[in-house]
Amino acid sequence: MSDGFEDIWADQGGLDYPFAEGPQIGGGLEIAPGVVWMRMPLGGSLAFINVWGLRDGDAWTLVDTGMQGPATTEAWRKAFAGPLQGLPVRRVIVTHMHPDHIGMAGWITRKFRCKLWITRLEYLMCRLLFADTGREAPEDGIEFYRAAGWGQDAIDNYMARFGGFGRALHTLPDSYRRVVDGETLRIGDYEWRVITGAGHSPEHCCLYCPELKLFISGDQVLPRITSNVSVFPTEPEGDPLDEWLTSLARIRQVVPDDVLVLPAHNDPFHRLHTRIDQLIGYHEGALKRLHRLISEPKRAVDVFGVLFKRQINEGVLSMATGESLAHLNCLMRRGDAVRTRDGAGVDWYRATSA
Ligand SMILES: [Zn+2]
Repeated sequence: MSDGFEDIWADQGGLDYPFAEGPQIGGGLEIAPGVVWMRMPLGGSLAFINVWGLRDGDAWTLVDTGMQGPATTEAWRKAFAGPLQGLPVRRVIVTHMHPDHIGMAGWITRKFRCKLWITRLEYLMCRLLFADTGREAPEDGIEFYRAAGWGQDAIDNYMARFGGFGRALHTLPDSYRRVVDGETLRIGDYEWRVITGAGHSPEHCCLYCPELKLFISGDQVLPRITSNVSVFPTEPEGDPLDEWLTSLARIRQVVPDDVLVLPAHNDPFHRLHTRIDQLIGYHEGALKRLHRLISEPKRAVDVFGVLFKRQINEGVLSMATGESLAHLNCLMRRGDAVRTRDGAGVDWYRATSA
């Protein structure tokens, strides 16, 4: 699962969860006037993704769609007939291009002949990754993971798995409606403001409704998970952690604390600002621990222990590596670390100040 994983560090308490129970798969729970909470099944370490139906006149606007697959198709069929009352879908808004969010967007937009609403970078990045489907692993990717310290077995696994992105989603529509940061969308009786973030994905869309005091946060703010913030082989010098911290701080400024947060994973919660403070604090703490650790030179694969409390197995190795590199690149950008590549093509990181 590319969204992140639940870790002991992630859940720091202090949040209020007003719902004792969420909806069943295929069912729905109206949590505010015309706002229906639904869940779509996921096979991985996360059991499900939350998706939202917003009443839009005599139809629905949907926010996020679930992973492609027969179980999700079945869940949507039940939802259309059940909580969505047999009414049509007028538009599909997708927060970002990860397959558990965008997977069914092509299917739903074709079924209802409606548009996909999404930010430009998310749309383009999704089309780009989709185009890699079935391709051989690129030399740049192999070099990237070798530099991070991966052994040959892990490299072999990467090569075998490469190009699988497209299998987790239906083909996207060939055109889309771009949504832009700061834009206000009228959906039924209410106005929702678009607030974008970056770091977990390139141009993630959140939606804030002042009147209903609701904030659809997607993966940008999750209550029990620290969202995955990773460096990828396509942009090895990227600093997504800086983008992540900057966008969290901005959301804290723009969205008041008295909203009910509707996240893509776990349950709706109160105390948005507390959670944002925890997330920023977690990463700043991780950067400090990392800085101490690399007083002796280390590779990206040597630093998992100060970032994650859970054991890093094969299934989460690439996510953990990407996240380690995000923290290491951030230290380098701040002038607190330097990197040297050895004769075997492996990068070693060392702190520059105490
Ligand atoms: Zn995601």
